[in-house]
Amino acid sequence: MATQLRLRSALALVTGAGSGIGRAVCARLAGEGATVAACDLDEAAARKTVQLLGGPGSEEGVLRRNHAAFQVDVSEARAARSLLQQVQACFSRPPSVVVSCAGITQDEFLLQMSEDDWDRVIAVNLKGIFLVMQAAVQALVSSGSHGSIINISSIVGKVGNVGQTNYAASKAGVIGLTQTAARELGRHGIRCNSVLPGFIVTPMTQKMPQKVKDKVTGMIPMGHMGTPEDVAEVVAFLASEDSGYITGASVEVTGGLFM
Ligand code: NAP
Repeated sequence: MATQLRLRSALALVTGAGSGIGRAVCARLAGEGATVAACDLDEAAARKTVQLLGGPGSEEGVLRRNHAAFQVDVSEARAARSLLQQVQACFSRPPSVVVSCAGITQDEFLLQMSEDDWDRVIAVNLKGIFLVMQAAVQALVSSGSHGSIINISSIVGKVGNVGQTNYAASKAGVIGLTQTAARELGRHGIRCNSVLPGFIVTPMTQKMPQKVKDKVTGMIPMGHMGTPEDVAEVVAFLASEDSGYITGASVEVTGGLFM
């Protein structure tokens, strides 16, 4: 549990909040005092995250916060717009911190990749971030509020990965989208940064064959895969005023892989 309460007045919307990195981000932001809107395709998983936030061991004050869970498919424009409306209705203000963690893989070699596999990964990982971010910043700008947008990309968006043309393209797109948004929104007091995790132990990487995990681990200067908490730590920094002069950055959390 974090000792600082850097996000005491923040309302944080987190997508992909029902699992892995998204769940760890919710825990870390709540631990720093934020109220959390935990959003996921899987509503039961998002509710479970919210339950975990109020569990024993929470710091005083954090327990009294009313976190809430929301179901959303981020790849659907109407759902993304409706999510922002629901969150604003629930908390009477737009989220000041937005962390897009929702993401999927559908791996295949380029020679065999179907159009459907391409389209679905781009729709969730890239268009989903555009939709949530656009709805959130529209709400922030129209209410004259400042904010911090954090998009989870991947180191694969920078260096590519065999079997992941769709995923690598989506994650490279997130970097460009985030940098462009940073240029457009700085004058509104909205910072936009992306985080590029390397290989992190979550349900997403549990699908990798052990042989591949061993090979990747052998390439990591730190000698082990990262934890969701390693990523959440950086997200909390980017959400807080400690990073008040950082925007348009792509922060690598890779244990030194592909530096
Ligand atoms: P994860 O454990 O699979 O969590 C992803 C979450 O996103 C799941 O709860 C999933 O729900 C949800 N989701 C999927 N499609 C969605 C949609 N259309 N709308 C809303 N929510 C949706 O994966 P993770 O490893 O924590 O990954 C989180 C993010 O980090 C992803 O963007 C991923 O690409 C990125 N990343 C991960 C790693 C890594 O090594 N793990 C490395 C680099 C980047 P369901 O379970 O219901 O599908």
